[in-house]
Amino acid sequence: MSASTDSLLASTATKTVRSWATQSATSPLAPFSIRRRHPLPDDVVIDILYCGVCHSDLHQVRNEWHNTIYPVVPGHEIVGRVVKTGGNVKKFKVGDLAAVGCMVDSCRACSSCRRGLEQYCENSPTFTYNSADKHLGGPTFGGYAESIVVDEAFTLKISSAVNLAATAPLLCAGITTYSPLRHWKVGPGQKVGIVGLGGLGHMGVKLARAFGAHVVLFTTSPGKTEDALRLGAHEVVLSKSGDEMRKHASSFDFILDAVSATHDINAYISLLKLDGTLTLVGAPELPLPVSAFNLLFGRRSFAGSGIGGIAETQEMLDFCAAHDIASDVEIIAIQQINEAYDRLLKGDVKYRFVIDMASLKQ
Ligand code: NAP
Ligand code: ZN
Ligand code: ZN
Repeated sequence: MSASTDSLLASTATKTVRSWATQSATSPLAPFSIRRRHPLPDDVVIDILYCGVCHSDLHQVRNEWHNTIYPVVPGHEIVGRVVKTGGNVKKFKVGDLAAVGCMVDSCRACSSCRRGLEQYCENSPTFTYNSADKHLGGPTFGGYAESIVVDEAFTLKISSAVNLAATAPLLCAGITTYSPLRHWKVGPGQKVGIVGLGGLGHMGVKLARAFGAHVVLFTTSPGKTEDALRLGAHEVVLSKSGDEMRKHASSFDFILDAVSATHDINAYISLLKLDGTLTLVGAPELPLPVSAFNLLFGRRSFAGSGIGGIAETQEMLDFCAAHDIASDVEIIAIQQINEAYDRLLKGDVKYRFVIDMASLKQ
């Protein structure tokens, strides 16, 4: 560690704030005190109003990606109000609404960062939680907390006209589906599949529909059919039915797979037409075997996509505000978070849990 970093750590004053954390892969979330730095010149201090509950929170709390640093304070779908700003801050003033997604920093110098693709930073982005905290040491702590301190370069603007609770999930579920749909140029004249009607999937349906595609939702849950149509799907396919799946063989331009658990990816690759692409945004714990012949015949592509860059996240928030798109949410108190995780595992959420952070003070 350099002398200047040492002195920064020593001189960084902190404030203690309330949060909920988990201490091991098998323990429940429970109240926990964390430190936030006093704002540096480029920082904004945000009092958190709402934080969405992403399946990635659950994967990481339970160490399903095998890289969790405990204690972990999850939460990367954050909206709140600015209560303090550093001396250099230009984008925000006290009283403004602000949002934070999955990243709070990156190297800002590598070729990915220079292209505005901070999520693919060659030196690894600093994720909102479960990353190394450059300022305080130890892990970064996320949004299941009273407040957060973030460099304004990684803080997003949100309109005062939007529903704040329903906007929080856009910070991960929204951008993670918006970015690949834009990258693969989904639009009118295309047949697009979305796999899994959860937090990401329901945003994928809404956004693909808004971009003008013909949208087909694949679900394992017969009870979600009506919702999927209401959310914007033109057709719904029950993926457990071989007959229903076969009707769509070799017909899709693009499929976005947002499933959180092990499933048969080949069943979807075979639905792509010539030169079609299946992009994975779901991040199950175990590898997904792919049949070579399924890719060879039809020159099909199997791809992946991770969240989105800061500029694109702002573009997505502005697009959603302009088109009146937000998440369908069930608001919970932080005290219900362990029960919410159990329900998330069963696919029993319509379609994103969002924590009302006022409950933290109860
Ligand atoms: P979620 O709300 O729990 O939704 C997942 C959906 O997958 C469920 O609602 C269910 O939909 C389907 N599903 C669950 N188990 C299944 C199984 N065994 N077989 C088939 N389908 C199943 O989760 P989420 O928050 O949307 O996150 C989805 C995944 O994306 C997670 O793995 C998460 O970590 C990952 N993620 C990735 C990124 C990224 O940057 N790429 C960002 C955020 C999240 P149906 O009931 O409709 O079948
Ligand atoms: Zn997420
Ligand atoms: Zn970088």
